[in-house]
Amino acid sequence: MDRRLLVISIDSMIEDDLRIIAKLDTLGDILGRSSVVWEMTSTYPTLTHSIHSSIITGCYPDRHGVISNERFIPGNLHAPWYDKASDLKVATLPDLCKSMGYTTASVCWPLTVGADMTYVLHRAGIRVPLEQKGEAMRASSTEGLVDEVEPFTGKCWDELPHFEASDRFSCRAAAYLYKEHKPDVMYVHLILVDHMRHQKGVYGEHIEQAYQFLDIELKVLWDTLEQEGLLDKTIVNITSDHGHLPVERVVSLNRFFKDNGLLCLKDNGELDTWQAYAHTCALSAQIYLSDSSVAERVYSLLDRNSAALGISRVFTAEQAENEYHLRGGFSFVVETDGHTAFSSDYNAPLVGRTGDEDYRYSVATHGHLPTVGPQPCFILYNPFASRRIELQRGRIIDQAPTLAKLMGIPMSDCDGECIKELCEDSKWI
Ligand SMILES: [Zn+2]
Repeated sequence: MDRRLLVISIDSMIEDDLRIIAKLDTLGDILGRSSVVWEMTSTYPTLTHSIHSSIITGCYPDRHGVISNERFIPGNLHAPWYDKASDLKVATLPDLCKSMGYTTASVCWPLTVGADMTYVLHRAGIRVPLEQKGEAMRASSTEGLVDEVEPFTGKCWDELPHFEASDRFSCRAAAYLYKEHKPDVMYVHLILVDHMRHQKGVYGEHIEQAYQFLDIELKVLWDTLEQEGLLDKTIVNITSDHGHLPVERVVSLNRFFKDNGLLCLKDNGELDTWQAYAHTCALSAQIYLSDSSVAERVYSLLDRNSAALGISRVFTAEQAENEYHLRGGFSFVVETDGHTAFSSDYNAPLVGRTGDEDYRYSVATHGHLPTVGPQPCFILYNPFASRRIELQRGRIIDQAPTLAKLMGIPMSDCDGECIKELCEDSKWI
């Protein structure tokens, strides 16, 4: 049977957004034909690249290995992100699909640089100058594909701000791939809604405007599926990774360690030596120790000063692993009090204000415990199912095994399980 899969992640889409989506032409049409899970329990920390790794592998961070967005490089406050497929320690659903003979595609999906997929396309980062964007995209995409899609994606990078341009590029590139190559399995990542939450807050007119923009862009993709005769053969999963919390202040934990003699700077302000170092995950932070003899002192300092530092809980490494399947080289994890973001900047004041130059310190952000705040939701258009259902709660780690089951692909070596209610009506299963 010709059965296909399209996964579209609208980064930071939350349950409350379904009310906005229901009123839109294209997204509203898809929602009206789909099953819904209102709240998907995510993984910790609630950061985009870590969660998208869980979405695509069905595993928690302690197994897939992506425990943050940025790599831990002490002294580098803008460290490179986990972005290579080789950063993942376990197989992905597209890997399994490809091994079964399906063609696969990724459009701007995290951790797919160098992936063994039939078609891989990537955007260039916001800090890459316009004249270098093409080169940067070619370097991380399938050879020749960036130039091939360009006539179809248009001059979006010249005409629109970065995040709008990125989502237009992704929707049009995905539509192009369906027109010309018809991949069996495709993953697409859209980022405008998340950006607007970081910029202007969790709720407001700006979120409705972002969805209105997306709706027009997604129409190109949805119409293409219809025109190519694929709508009754394609399972379409519109998904998300995390919610946001409003932020009131930014606390520099490395400034705190410096003030307590656990981190030293050179005269020019660069990092010199450290015994304790906080790797920010925005609304949580992973605390690394270069010297285990200071562990008790560091724990005690964080615990005693938790209110001043905006910490609601200090997890030991063992607790983080046992309770949230989070394991890395760190010794502790600190969780926000709900309105404090954490900075790694040792030159910053201990307590500072939010700003719009970095997603980790903006007026709304994430990285917090997955059980707190508005939850990501899950929409499943399944033309092979005989009815739509609604579930109140599911888990991000169950997504890959559920989609695998719907595609008829065995996927047992992961932490998640198939969501039975979403599979039981599907023909052939
Ligand atoms: Zn995200």
